[in-house]
Amino acid sequence: MYKVAKFGGSSLANAEQWKKVKAIIDSDEDRHIVVVSAVGKSNPKDHKVTDLLYLIYQHHKYHIEADDLFKEVEEKYLSIKRELGLKVDIESDFAEIKERLEKNQISEEELVSRGEYFSAKMMADYLGFDFVDAKELINFDYEGQVVEEETIDCIERAVSVHDYFVVPGFYGSYPNYKICLFSRGGSDVTGSYMAKGAKADLYENFTDVPGFYMADPRILKSPRHISQISYDELRELSDMGACVLHEETVLPLLEEDIPILVLSTDHPELEGTWVKKQVTGRKHLVTGISGKKGFLALTFQKKRSVGKLDILLEVLSVFNQYHVPVEHLPTSIDTFSVVVEKSNIEEKYYDIIADLKKNPGILSINEDEDLALIAVVGSNLVHRIGASGEILSVFGKEGINIKFLDQGLEEYQILAGVSEKDFETSIQALYTRFAHEKITAEA
Ligand code: ASP
Repeated sequence: MYKVAKFGGSSLANAEQWKKVKAIIDSDEDRHIVVVSAVGKSNPKDHKVTDLLYLIYQHHKYHIEADDLFKEVEEKYLSIKRELGLKVDIESDFAEIKERLEKNQISEEELVSRGEYFSAKMMADYLGFDFVDAKELINFDYEGQVVEEETIDCIERAVSVHDYFVVPGFYGSYPNYKICLFSRGGSDVTGSYMAKGAKADLYENFTDVPGFYMADPRILKSPRHISQISYDELRELSDMGACVLHEETVLPLLEEDIPILVLSTDHPELEGTWVKKQVTGRKHLVTGISGKKGFLALTFQKKRSVGKLDILLEVLSVFNQYHVPVEHLPTSIDTFSVVVEKSNIEEKYYDIIADLKKNPGILSINEDEDLALIAVVGSNLVHRIGASGEILSVFGKEGINIKFLDQGLEEYQILAGVSEKDFETSIQALYTRFAHEKITAEA
């Protein structure tokens, strides 16, 4: 067996957590590659190193002194180093980074990536593994997309040279060898590339929870644990707010069929969640219910004489031009809505609206900024005629108005848009109705 094990920031938050990581790695010699995040929060009031590094860069950009923040980051690593009695020299790395920052010689991406870099250097020392820099392995193009073939080649080479090694997550390099970051939470994706390149049998992702729950435990008390989830279900649930794994984690593995097992660092003995290409033997109708607040819908009324496709393409090109991802696009004959996340449009809102208003084919634009989306996901939904009706009736019974609805043709997810005030009630009611519902009565 060949395993890749990834540890998230909360698994590295202090020396106690590092000891748990070492115990996990030492207990199984199949764990050849370890991928680490930056040091995370050790209590709710604490700060994640990655957030601090972004903050330091912003201070620097606006010429605001950030020595204390820099010291806070440094001390997080040095205290772990002291407590674990590590030998690796990170002090000179810190001094060098500080100097380069003062001389404007370090990019934001490189500075932010140092959280993972320090974690990996120290973890390699602690475990007695080699350190291999992600800069040498994960290749991005200038658009920030991973160049898969080169990346896999580099990982294969590393695997042939190093028997056991630690890799920093979250970053790689542009063709000019400068640092490029994944989006936030991207160390999960690094782990997937490592698993693919190493042709691993298993990718273990250790985090602060033993896998996925049917709904968010912050909204519901003790929701049902999910023991298996498919790649597709994971994408849908993560996209809609289930933040256990980065939504792109499965992408490198789609053709490989390497399973991911999500486990808890605090309780590695607990059953985790298997994420697989194909899941078998599951009897529950609904796999998961997730959702997010903070959406905005812009509804366009078009002139009847204007072709629907033309106007849709014109409107979407404006969003594309401003790099605002469009989440959903409900349409009717003369109107259509564009649903976006508010956080993605905020700063560009007035420019986008001004550009859209220039389009002579648009009669009016209405805005609804009170929109939460809820996704009911399950590959078994397709096996039950009337499942969508049953889901919708839950909203009806609760007196909750559905603003828009979407069911993909693959029929494994139903998405409903509701007012933000109805968000928690909807999730609770859906969970109560479907937590234990099986596909068939006898199943
Ligand atoms: N440290 C980075 C973040 O906080 C990446 C990661 O942990 O996956 O987003």
